[in-house]
Amino acid sequence: MIYLYNTLSRKKEIFEPSQDNIVRMYSCGPTVYSYAHIGNLRAYIFMDTLRRVLKYNGYKINGVMNITDVGHLTSDGDTGEDKMEKASKRENKSPYEIAEYYTEWFLKDAKKLNIELPEKLCKATDHIQDMIEFVQRLIDNGMAYEVDGNVYFDVQKLKSYGRLSGINLDDLKAGARIAVNEQKKSPYDFALWIKAPENHIMKWQSPWGVGYPGWHIECSTMSRKYLGDTFDIHTGGVDHIPVHHENELAQTEGYSGKLQARFWMHVEFLQVDGGKMSKSLGNCYRIEELEEKGYSALDYRYFCLNGHYRKKLNFTFDALNASKIARSRLNALLLSHKNGKETCDNQKLAEYKKQFVDAINDDLNIPYALGVLWTMLKDMPCSKDVFDLALEMDKIFGLSFDSLKEEVAEQKPQEDIPQEVKELAEKRAEAKKQKDFALADELRNQIDKLGYLIIDGRQGFEIKKK
Ligand code: AMP
Ligand code: ZN
Repeated sequence: MIYLYNTLSRKKEIFEPSQDNIVRMYSCGPTVYSYAHIGNLRAYIFMDTLRRVLKYNGYKINGVMNITDVGHLTSDGDTGEDKMEKASKRENKSPYEIAEYYTEWFLKDAKKLNIELPEKLCKATDHIQDMIEFVQRLIDNGMAYEVDGNVYFDVQKLKSYGRLSGINLDDLKAGARIAVNEQKKSPYDFALWIKAPENHIMKWQSPWGVGYPGWHIECSTMSRKYLGDTFDIHTGGVDHIPVHHENELAQTEGYSGKLQARFWMHVEFLQVDGGKMSKSLGNCYRIEELEEKGYSALDYRYFCLNGHYRKKLNFTFDALNASKIARSRLNALLLSHKNGKETCDNQKLAEYKKQFVDAINDDLNIPYALGVLWTMLKDMPCSKDVFDLALEMDKIFGLSFDSLKEEVAEQKPQEDIPQEVKELAEKRAEAKKQKDFALADELRNQIDKLGYLIIDGRQGFEIKKK
């Protein structure tokens, strides 16, 4: 039995698909105006883990994910510039080129992270006509209104508006939380279709003039098109709860009178050094940057698996170092079981398996499941049976236990390290001990320039060639 936390009911519920053995699932995908940062990628590692748990339980998945290539403004609401247009000006390329370039990067990152993508990826710009029809029906149903080429959803027409995030429209004071737009009847009304300014590149003819769709409408339209009026699970980040998902839910209900999705699941944010990720702080790291510093995408995946998806996770390079070291120890342990000749107690293995399955089915308690793996590997005699069970567990972890050999062999022995580098590393460790972090950083830079990396762990440091 699988338990999943449903944001809509605010509790863990037993999950079963509503029809046959197939889970119909929609995941809000990337806005392809820039590279995905490690925070974004945490959201897709979560989506992937959920898919893996469902599959492990014998379900098939019909998954859909959108690629947002129009209509996502620089605020999540209705103000600011379209992110695609902004990127197009910044890079002097057409928004379509921008979308293609960053989509490709997203797919590359996902592959490196062993993220299995949903069965169908769909671009917003391929569904403009579907969106226009959706909006027209909302107008026909009396749920939306047009003002000077803009079409807005009329939240006051939908009694249930606000139920995902707990907004109560009766408490509403105009302007209290959202800036008032004079065209809107209520400040919570949101744009379905936006009139295009003269110089706007992405624009289409519609019954309301030339314009482009709002961000939320693409997800209601495409999820309905491919998964039907009501599907099983909708996923996204916690930032989607108050605006994007609240509005998706409202649109679909306004269209069909039905609940868009039975389960709504949201992944908490990744923080960096205890704070927000932001361009101005220069901490919106990408996988490529982690790789340049000597880490692999799977070190980052391992790091993410150590935090429950409903808890904030704090990224630091020290924590990533610790993950890297832990993963190489894990791989060494796995290898010793792979080559092990001892026999092991099947009863005990069955117990480990039960603990593992109970953890993953308890709202994706992956950190606990990882703990079970570690205990099993450490406590059991070296046996191929243990390795086989670890391989089965890896269907959830996605850490490539099946290609261990290559990774372990790739690691260079410590003896290759030049004396000069070793001395600098010792000096750096001493500086850290004395809390002279400026000197420690300077020494790390010198080591870096010589082509080596320092990886700190609980038991000291390790030196690696880059
Ligand atoms: P975007 O490409 O901006 O539409 O975001 C893609 C996904 O990343 C969404 O599901 C967001 O909720 C999620 N996201 C953005 N920032 C973070 C973060 N710091 N931690 C976790 N997820 C995030
Ligand atoms: Zn969406």
